[in-house]
Amino acid sequence: MIRIGHGFDIHRLAPERVLVLGGVIIPWDTGLLGHSDADVLLHAAIDGILGALALGDIGQWFPDTDERFRGADSAALLRAVMRDPRLQGWDVANLDATILAERPKLAPHIPTMRESIARILSIPADRVSVKATTMEGIGEIGQSEAIAAHAVVLLNREPPLVRQSSLSEDG
Ligand code: MG
Repeated sequence: MIRIGHGFDIHRLAPERVLVLGGVIIPWDTGLLGHSDADVLLHAAIDGILGALALGDIGQWFPDTDERFRGADSAALLRAVMRDPRLQGWDVANLDATILAERPKLAPHIPTMRESIARILSIPADRVSVKATTMEGIGEIGQSEAIAAHAVVLLNREPPLVRQSSLSEDG
């Protein structure tokens, strides 16, 4: 059985914040503003996974009004989602994400982000794709006021094993 989900997120860039993308700290003079660490890439990934199983969205799971999630490590939020009983038996077949950011240049960090997401999900890095594009200077993202991310996730669950005897009886 397979299920597909899509996630999108956007956060504003602000001074005196640490830029965290895909669980990786990116050295930069601004970071994303949010209740948690504002890791827009992991938030999109979480919403993709939740979307695949119609389990709501990150805002319902981890409300920004809840003090427990202030400054939260989004990697811990993603792990918490994967540990939920409703996710049991489901495996991330692959995840494909696109980050929309004017600056900094993200290409040098992409292998590290893929490894990081793969480690959080306990899957091989070749099942995780991270791409980055600029907005050609257009709009708020193009003016480096924000960074956004999309993620598409395919979940797979193996069917219960069919007993061999029931297949062979009576042809
Ligand atoms: Mg978010």
